[in-house]
Amino acid sequence: MSSTEHSRQTVVANGQSYIAPQKPTVVITIDGCAVEYLTAALEKGCMPNLQALLDGGAFSVDALSEMPSFTNPNNISIVTGVAPAIHGIVGNYYRDPHGVERQLTQPSDLRASTIHAALHAHGIPVLMVTAKDKLRRLLSVGGVPSVSVEKADSLPIAPYGDATAADLVGRPAPHIYDWDASIYAMDIGLAAHRQAGPIGLLYVSFTDYVQHREPPGSALANQFYSAFDDRLGIYLAEGFLVGITADHGMNAKHNHDGSPRLILLEDVLQEAGIKGHAVLPITDPYTAHHGALGSFAWVYVDRTDRDRAIEIIGNAAGVTEAYTGREAAAAYELPSDLIGDIAVSGDRSMVLGRSASFHAASPPPGHLRSHGGRYEQPIPLILSEQPRPEFLGSRAGRPHRNRYIHDLLLNGCTEQQEAPSGIGSVQKPISVAPFGE
Ligand code: ZN
Ligand code: ZN
Repeated sequence: MSSTEHSRQTVVANGQSYIAPQKPTVVITIDGCAVEYLTAALEKGCMPNLQALLDGGAFSVDALSEMPSFTNPNNISIVTGVAPAIHGIVGNYYRDPHGVERQLTQPSDLRASTIHAALHAHGIPVLMVTAKDKLRRLLSVGGVPSVSVEKADSLPIAPYGDATAADLVGRPAPHIYDWDASIYAMDIGLAAHRQAGPIGLLYVSFTDYVQHREPPGSALANQFYSAFDDRLGIYLAEGFLVGITADHGMNAKHNHDGSPRLILLEDVLQEAGIKGHAVLPITDPYTAHHGALGSFAWVYVDRTDRDRAIEIIGNAAGVTEAYTGREAAAAYELPSDLIGDIAVSGDRSMVLGRSASFHAASPPPGHLRSHGGRYEQPIPLILSEQPRPEFLGSRAGRPHRNRYIHDLLLNGCTEQQEAPSGIGSVQKPISVAPFGE
């Protein structure tokens, strides 16, 4: 699995080799970060550190997230480097092959290994930090140390000692619905790096509560991005190679009066005499974000009704794509055994629901903002250093995707000349300033 040719250690994850980090490296996934959030905050002068990076020639491109544009599939693509067709996490929520609907959060759901697990197996210090605990178990597959903001006050951050993440940070964790829960995730990563030894590869994944609530350029959004930028400056000062991307974008999904712009798929089919069942893969424990309404849905119907159901749904205003499962597997790089009979995507301002009676139980927030479709695929991808020109040249013609960010950082930004032993070398540990200096 590993080799030390050219004095560099490499590991393999899902058929792709990765050069072990030569210096502390972090990938930060800003949940729900449509490009417009960064643009608006930069224009307001709220992000001086990011501005300096961009002015100094950092690598910054428009990239794409996975479809459906939800949190779990994209976070897992980012840490495995492969599409959902390979890793098997097709949503936050799904109907399994036995017909049982459930969250996609179990380690046994993951069909691929993470890059972090491959490094961890070779003794390179890695850490996963996530705001939402729903992701933590998936990220910890392979024995990777992982911690969430939600459990920061209670779970030890082993093997970084018996202390909890909150002990390391030195203040209690905010609530998951506080605006700065994601900023605290960045603080956990910094505290672990400073106090428990240098981290080779760190992953920090946010929550999109702010983005679900606030449009780009709002006071709270800019406050959030300003705090992010403050921590970004600290990471850079600590010598981190930094990659920034998002799991998906975010768009307004409401009418002028603030009510959701919504297609109720089961009701639409029932009017045509078809009994259908919709599964909403945005569904997760954080219903205050979106009321389970996103711009993507699976529909299950009797085989004999499928083509007519596709025609009816496809003709509904605000639906941009209605595919058979087979077509969706090909178009979106999804595993054909884990998806529904029909895939439905909504347009920039449309969300998809089940039935009026179903959503009456937990109505969505007013002025809904959400994601899940093609219009939330565009995302930023920023690296604090430029990959080598020949590395980029070898990838010419391929779209930039969030799932390639570790390839770009670890393989593309590695210096060409013989590097000293990487992180994980017992002989030459990287020295960092002690905490508080
Ligand atoms: Zn998300
Ligand atoms: Zn969300």
